[in-house]
Amino acid sequence: RQELIYISTGSKEFDKILGGGFETGSITELYGEYRTGKTQICHTIAVISQLPQHLGGADGKCLWIDTEGTFRPERCVEIGKRFNLREDCILENITYARAYNTDQQLQLLQQASALMMESRYALLIVDSAMNLFRTDYIGRGELQARQSLLGRFMRMLMRLADEFGVAVVITNQVVATVDGAMMFNADPKKAAGGHVLAHASTTRLSLRKGRQESRICKVVDSPRLPESDATFAITANGVED
Ligand code: ATP
Ligand code: MG
Repeated sequence: RQELIYISTGSKEFDKILGGGFETGSITELYGEYRTGKTQICHTIAVISQLPQHLGGADGKCLWIDTEGTFRPERCVEIGKRFNLREDCILENITYARAYNTDQQLQLLQQASALMMESRYALLIVDSAMNLFRTDYIGRGELQARQSLLGRFMRMLMRLADEFGVAVVITNQVVATVDGAMMFNADPKKAAGGHVLAHASTTRLSLRKGRQESRICKVVDSPRLPESDATFAITANGVED
């Protein structure tokens, strides 16, 4: 097993509660309401993961599986300026794939394995892990099938994390209010689908909005970290203190 490397978030406070950053070789779930910064955190670590270890990176490429169409290469370029990275280098080190349904989402993980055998990847992002499962499997009657496929998806992620030592970071949009129709994706632990994700993720981080650009991250579940909060900012430079 490779030595554990942590990918910096871009914020010292945020890194502190993570014991250095996003752990390679395991799965971290980022969950929170819309606009809490899940995708912006992904953009930031897609850049930082490329840096050498002494600068907070993991010296590898990033594979970004996008299920929502919210990846913006120009955001990565903008964030990369902080680290004096060249535009063409940054984007060369990010492999982008768009999934439109759950079958494609799983197929992409098979291709991921082939890619990771060819070159050194440090990070695998799935933004978001759950939304296609929610749209592909709507009714109660489909719940069993959905949970089963979601379980398979998570096992494939675990395997990639183990085999290639990549940090796997998945996002999950949740809603705060538990009221009737929205109940299905309310509490990620109780919600249908949510507990499969929660169970298979090594570390779970909850995000919420603070004032203006500030965001608060809480370590909810981790085998190695205490429950704690950190406040950071999301700016043009990505995640910062
Ligand atoms: P969703 O659940 O809808 O996918 P999310 O948690 O992924 O939401 P993000 O897209 O990461 O949320 O965060 C959006 C927020 O990031 C915006 O509301 C804005 O505050 C901030 N943001 C995005 N781009 C920039 C930028 N270029 N400069 C400063 N802040 C930005
Ligand atoms: Mg998003």
